[in-house]
Amino acid sequence: MAHFPTEFLDEVLVRTDIVELIARHVQLKKSGNNFMGLCPFHHEKSPSFSVSADKQLFYCFGCGKGGGAFQFLTEHDGYSFPEAVEYLAEKAGLAVPESREVDSGEQEKKKRALALLEKGADLFCRALMAPEGRAGLDYFKRRKLPPEIIRKYRLGYAPPGYGFMEKSLGRDARMQAQLEAVGLMFKGDRGYVDRFRGRVMFPITDRRGQVVGYGGRILDQGEPKYLNSPETPFFHKSELLYGYFEHRDEIRSRKLLVVVEGYMDVLAMAAHGLPVGLAPLGTAIGERQVREILRLHPEPVFCFDGDRAGRQAAWRALEKMLPVLAAEHGPRFLYLPEGEDPDSLLQREGSEAFALRLEQDAKPVLDTWIDGLRILAGSGPEGRARMAKKADSMLAAMADDYLSQAWRQEAEKVTAITLKTPPRAAPETVLRRPHPISKVPSLATPNQERFLAALLQNPQRIRGLLADEEKFMLDDAGLNQLYTRVLELAAANYNVAQALLLDFPQDERIPLWASQSDISDDEFEKLQLLMRERYFYRLLKQDGTLAEKQHYRYRWNEIRNKLEKVGQ
Ligand SMILES: [Zn+2]
Repeated sequence: MAHFPTEFLDEVLVRTDIVELIARHVQLKKSGNNFMGLCPFHHEKSPSFSVSADKQLFYCFGCGKGGGAFQFLTEHDGYSFPEAVEYLAEKAGLAVPESREVDSGEQEKKKRALALLEKGADLFCRALMAPEGRAGLDYFKRRKLPPEIIRKYRLGYAPPGYGFMEKSLGRDARMQAQLEAVGLMFKGDRGYVDRFRGRVMFPITDRRGQVVGYGGRILDQGEPKYLNSPETPFFHKSELLYGYFEHRDEIRSRKLLVVVEGYMDVLAMAAHGLPVGLAPLGTAIGERQVREILRLHPEPVFCFDGDRAGRQAAWRALEKMLPVLAAEHGPRFLYLPEGEDPDSLLQREGSEAFALRLEQDAKPVLDTWIDGLRILAGSGPEGRARMAKKADSMLAAMADDYLSQAWRQEAEKVTAITLKTPPRAAPETVLRRPHPISKVPSLATPNQERFLAALLQNPQRIRGLLADEEKFMLDDAGLNQLYTRVLELAAANYNVAQALLLDFPQDERIPLWASQSDISDDEFEKLQLLMRERYFYRLLKQDGTLAEKQHYRYRWNEIRNKLEKVGQ
């Protein structure tokens, strides 16, 4: 993040309204100086998530998440920091300054590629609605997808035969090379040819809603049935989930997430009023995807076919889940009747019956694990031993110590065998991010922290500080670092709390301090005296000449008298 100049970041933030940014995801109600809503980062029934319009910060008093506009985009929407900056700069109409670290030629290329991927989606959409797209439209009609779903998910059609891209975009060699780079064409013996032919098309978006690739389903009997874009710098199959961008907010507000197998399942659910489905891109679900899913909602339901292949797929998903799973999560597994998928079930039973299945038939992950172990191990004493062995090796993959202990006890009950304590993997830092300062024992006193909070809440107070007050926090390195920066930022006329977050993006005390209930001027005066008292006391204890000592003692007593008067 170092490569954006602070002035530029500040300019971006000045032109950004965090309330508007957050209100797109969270229903906010005015409450005093702030806005309150249900926290999008943890589950809650009464709002403890506050957004301050004048400080341009958010803070959740329930789970402690907090930050500014950049942090909201990185934590909530999954942007990288540079992406968040670019996004907000673009919204604000600011040009991102060129920097040494970012190759602007690369950036340009990336922009062109993404524009081309969008263009491709448009072309497929138009082809679907044109007379040549009749076969595709018929297919979606047969699958009972209403026009609004076709529009919303930008479904399209790639006509059969070669030459669709050439016809649409011209026969320019540079263009064709670009189309190859984004996976829309490939180079065969006879030059560039279309990758997708005779298929209905599903554009796949990244977390920002940008088209990064496509899935195509063939309409005749050809192979493969589903064809995806090849891996490109933008399209990483193992990281993306179909429906993520479109359903993220619905999943959060309905507190329901259903992982299904295919694009058509996701769409059928949406068509039946359940826009909460996500699907991997034609491959088995991977660890990164599981992580993403659990981040979005801690209690997802994974749907699988009830047949043998479905149970195997469920087992694989469970194995991928172990390193990510924590006690806070409660994923469930739902086996559908044999030969059915969510699409066919919804057509036959309707959405209420399907929702009921999700509610009643989905089993906790622990049950799925025990059942799976049983099936794998077989019967008899040897079976129990095999089961215990397998359980032990799987428990070793778990990152959450408490959860693995709980699971071990369950497995021991079933097998009647004492499991070995599995060798512990290094604790997963991703699960619970340690507080950056907590490693160093903090010498900060509550008064010091409160003093800093008072300054962040009302930066006008900084102007009234005396020169020696710059040394107030010397006894705590972490706090002193923050404090020194606060004084610098105030002197340079920045929005102090916000700019402070640019330097200490991980320090969630900053939004907490700025968001907690207002510290009155009276209390601030008292805090200021307490700071001075501590400061002169420290000077008094240091080596010095007699004259210095006398001076410090005089000042110290003076402050103590004042403190007595204000009742401290
Ligand atoms: Zn929260």
